[in-house]
Amino acid sequence: MNSTNEQFLLIVNKLKITEQHFFTKLLLNWHQSHNHRWLPWKGETDAYKIWLSEIILQQTRAQQGIAYYEKFLANYPTIFDLAAATDEAVFKLWEGLGYYNRCRNLLHTARVVVNHFQGVFPNTYEGLLALKGIGPYTAAAIASFAYNLPHAVLDGNVYRVLARFFAIEIASDSTAGKQYFEQLVQELLPPKQAALFNQAIMDFGATVCKPQIPTCGTCPLQMHCEGFAKQLQWKLPIKEKTIQRKQRVFHYWVLTHKQQVWVRQRTLPDVWQNLYEFLLLETKGVQLATDEQDFIAQQLQVRPTEFLKPIQVKQQLTHQQITGLFYEVHLPKKPVLTGGKWIQRSELLSLAFPKLIHQYFEQASLP
Ligand code: SF4
Repeated sequence: MNSTNEQFLLIVNKLKITEQHFFTKLLLNWHQSHNHRWLPWKGETDAYKIWLSEIILQQTRAQQGIAYYEKFLANYPTIFDLAAATDEAVFKLWEGLGYYNRCRNLLHTARVVVNHFQGVFPNTYEGLLALKGIGPYTAAAIASFAYNLPHAVLDGNVYRVLARFFAIEIASDSTAGKQYFEQLVQELLPPKQAALFNQAIMDFGATVCKPQIPTCGTCPLQMHCEGFAKQLQWKLPIKEKTIQRKQRVFHYWVLTHKQQVWVRQRTLPDVWQNLYEFLLLETKGVQLATDEQDFIAQQLQVRPTEFLKPIQVKQQLTHQQITGLFYEVHLPKKPVLTGGKWIQRSELLSLAFPKLIHQYFEQASLP
C-alpha cells in the first residue's frame, strides 16, 4: 500500500471515530452564534431565487453579485418573466459579470422550466442536475435550500475548509481527491439540517477560513483544527494543476462616420459570444506587421499612419489573457464591410459589450 492510500485510511478511520462529529457540531454552533454574514438570498427557499443567485455566483464574488441579483429580480420577479424576456435585454442586464455562457444557460433553463415544468424547478437532485448550467454544486444548493434534501455543497470554499481542518494533503483537483472530498462532506452533513450545514460551511469559508488570510487566531474551530496544529493552513488545499493562461491580442478598429459607429455581434463559439464589438483583427503580437496594416488600410481606404497610437487595455479571463488595442478611425465615407452595422453613437450603450471594451470606453472619446 502506498503512503497516499495509507493516509486515506488513517484519515477515514479517525474521522469515523470523533472528528466528523466535532466538525459539524462546532460549525453549526459557530453559525448559530457568530455568523453575521448578510446576503439578500440567504434563508431563501424559493427555487427560482436560489437558482438565480447561484448562477450569478458561479464565477462572481458575492459582493459583486448582490447588485446583479437585485437588478434581475426587479426586472424579472418570476421565472415566467425571465423566460419571456428577449435575449438582448437579458444580455444587457448581465453585462459586466463576464462568463456569458452562464447567461445563455440562464435563459435556456428558464424557458425549459416554464415550457416543460410549468415554471416549477424539479424537486430532486438528479432532476436539477439535468438542467443546463446546473452542475453538482448548484444542484446541491437548490436541493438543500429549497427542498432541504440531504445534498452537501462542494466548491472552492468547502475544499479549503475541509483540507485545512482535517489537514488533507491530497490534491483537491485530482480524481481521487474529488471523490475523497465528496464522500467526506457528504458524511459530515447532518441529513435533517442540510440547508443549515451548507449555509454554515459556505459562510465559514468566506469569512473565517478565508483563502489568503485565515483568521485562525479567533477561529472557534482552532482547538480541533489539524491544519492549524501542523501549521499547514497556508499550504492547503493542494492543487495539482496550475492554470496556463493563453495570451491573445485583439486589434480593434473603432470606425466612426459622422455620428455613426460600426459594430458587430460576436456569433462564433468563443469568448463573449452574443456580445458586441468593433472591427477586429486578432494577431500574435501587439505590433501590427506591415502586411496586416496594409490589409486594414486597404479595406478602410485610409493610410496606415492612422494606426499609430492605439489605446491599450487588458482583461484577465480564467484561461486567457486578452490585450486589446483600439484604433479610432474617423472615416469621410463608409467603406464596404460585412457582418456588422452602423449605429448612432448615442445607441452604443444600449448594446452589451465585453468588459475589455468598457475599459476602452473609460479612456476614449466614445461613446
Ligand atoms: S484554525 Fe485556521 S485553518 Fe483551521 S479552520 Fe480555523 S481558520 Fe481555518
